Amino acid sequence: MSDEKIELPHNSPVQPTRLELEDTIKFRCHKDISCWNQCCARADVTLAPYDIIRLKKRMNMDSTEFLAQYSVPFEIDAHGIPGIKLRTDDSGACQFMTNEGCSVYEDRPTACRYYPSGLLSMRALGEAKDEQHFLLIKEDHCKGHEEDNIITIGDYRKEQQVEEFDELNRDFYRIILKKKSTGPTIGAPSDMSLQLFFMASYDVDRFRRFVMSENFIKIYDITDEEYDSLEKDDVALMQFGFTLMKQVFFGELSIKEREGAWDKRADERREILEYRKKVEIAEHEKKQEEARKAAIDSGTEHAED
Ligand code: SF4
Ligand code: SF4
Repeated sequence: MSDEKIELPHNSPVQPTRLELEDTIKFRCHKDISCWNQCCARADVTLAPYDIIRLKKRMNMDSTEFLAQYSVPFEIDAHGIPGIKLRTDDSGACQFMTNEGCSVYEDRPTACRYYPSGLLSMRALGEAKDEQHFLLIKEDHCKGHEEDNIITIGDYRKEQQVEEFDELNRDFYRIILKKKSTGPTIGAPSDMSLQLFFMASYDVDRFRRFVMSENFIKIYDITDEEYDSLEKDDVALMQFGFTLMKQVFFGELSIKEREGAWDKRADERREILEYRKKVEIAEHEKKQEEARKAAIDSGTEHAED
């Protein structure tokens, strides 16, 4: 177990010790335990992009519907990077909780799989690469810590099948980490880039329509094979979204842009704005003309009286 201490808020249930894969925890959860379901009855579950893909598929919904019904937004950092949590009922219970346990168990989110440990993505000062460490969360209501079962973090991750989730969400965690650590030097993200981040990270079906749109195709040079995969495969589209966000947030150019596409788009926008302006002026002049005519007509009527 590492001696490194982590700064945490007062009263946090998290043990302020960093754990590594080979460190052990004493824990077991099972259906006959006295606290069965108590964790899900007060759920505070942050969702990662791959969690949403699994859950929306499980619920046979598109991502936009899923987000409306099962999620609430929050801000991950001071720059307003958007995050998503599972929506609970009025008592704070997860909507997927049943007396038998989790109704979406095979597709439960990463945070539920990790509990009572947690993933801690970190980047050491001056280092370009991120590191993955783990935390232990000890809450009074959770009696699993009193069970006689010792397991390494590495084996617990395997048992909970969380490795696939971490692997697929890895670039998402890296983006958030990099944004947090380099935010002020790169500058606050624009509203437009935050909306794009939300759509690319969480609302994969809406993001697909955006990627398939004429405007997107005019700017980005993507092969037919790539488009084919983005059209059919949610995970490929999610990974493409992470690549696009690295391009938008940090200028890491990975997706080829068509030559002169941005200038052409700016010219088109300018033309549209000028056209709109002309229409507005014409409408304004028409209204003024009608008002003048009405005033003349009413003056003529009074004169005839
Ligand atoms: S998704 Fe399942 S495991 Fe996670 S809080 Fe809800 S009921 Fe519990
Ligand atoms: S042991 Fe902990 S994780 Fe398992 S049901 Fe009880 S509160 Fe939930």
